[in-house]
Amino acid sequence: MRDELSHIRNQEDEERKIILAEHKKYMDNLFARYPQLKENFERADDVLKQIISATFRKFKGESLEEGIVALETRLDELMAERRSLLKEYNIDPLSLQPRWNCELCQDTGMISKEGLYFACPCAQEKRIRLYRKHANLPSRIANATFAAANFDLYQPEFREQAKQNYAYVQRFCEHLKRDSGQGLFIHGTTGSGKSFLLGCIANYLLEHMSVRYLVYADFLDSLRATFNREAEQSEQQLVDEVKNVDLLLLDDLGLEKPTEFSLKNLAQIIDYRYRNLKPLVVTSNFTLPELVRRFQTDLYGERIVWRLGEMCSNILELKGNLRMIL
Ligand SMILES: [Zn+2]
Repeated sequence: MRDELSHIRNQEDEERKIILAEHKKYMDNLFARYPQLKENFERADDVLKQIISATFRKFKGESLEEGIVALETRLDELMAERRSLLKEYNIDPLSLQPRWNCELCQDTGMISKEGLYFACPCAQEKRIRLYRKHANLPSRIANATFAAANFDLYQPEFREQAKQNYAYVQRFCEHLKRDSGQGLFIHGTTGSGKSFLLGCIANYLLEHMSVRYLVYADFLDSLRATFNREAEQSEQQLVDEVKNVDLLLLDDLGLEKPTEFSLKNLAQIIDYRYRNLKPLVVTSNFTLPELVRRFQTDLYGERIVWRLGEMCSNILELKGNLRMIL
């Protein structure tokens, strides 16, 4: 992910170089066709350099006020001459500027305001697009939002509790910070809308942090696939990605077989996130005590559930079955 963010950066630099090179070519052609325009640019550049050097000398205490005024008048004349030349040759003055994709930051991704630098909105959009791609949301929940949650889909007796849970989770998202170490554990039967809720969390937080959705059983399949020699990523690379993402959303924990391989990797991920205060949201068909029983076959099992209990001080239950409707 970090590699890819820096890749965006490099790509921006490359694109910027291409735009500048194209612009130079355009200007060279223009100057070859209109030597008078070239001369005007050269003279203006020269006067500008004189103004800069005179200003420096003035700062050093030399009295050059009149000289600078004369130079500025000369520059104004040259700019007026340029405007009339452009009109005569029918050249759009805007074409004399490079064609940036983003005028605001001239494709640097940064804007400065009162001496401070900020990320340009165009860079933020790019980052959000990248976060969205990496979040790995299945299409079923790719557009899930708190505003789109339809509580009429819950059976009447579960509706109020679902509403309260959604409101609680939304507040959790509003206050969640990277490195806060906070967690949520949501349990409920299959079809109670747990995955949809994870989709809401992901889409809410994607603008602020990197998010990764995964069904642990599927992740184990990806890990096993790395044993193949031609695999693009190693097992450790995949585990590291999941360890380091700002917010991890683990859907349907406990669905996988509790083998040593499965529990060892899970323990590594959860332990790392616990120690480094990285937030986590887990859903499961099982309650935490049920997970302890399920994982108990292995020494890692208890540790995982213990850590989950430490991180997820908030435990919610979703009831109902929306599968027939969704
Ligand atoms: Zn920009």
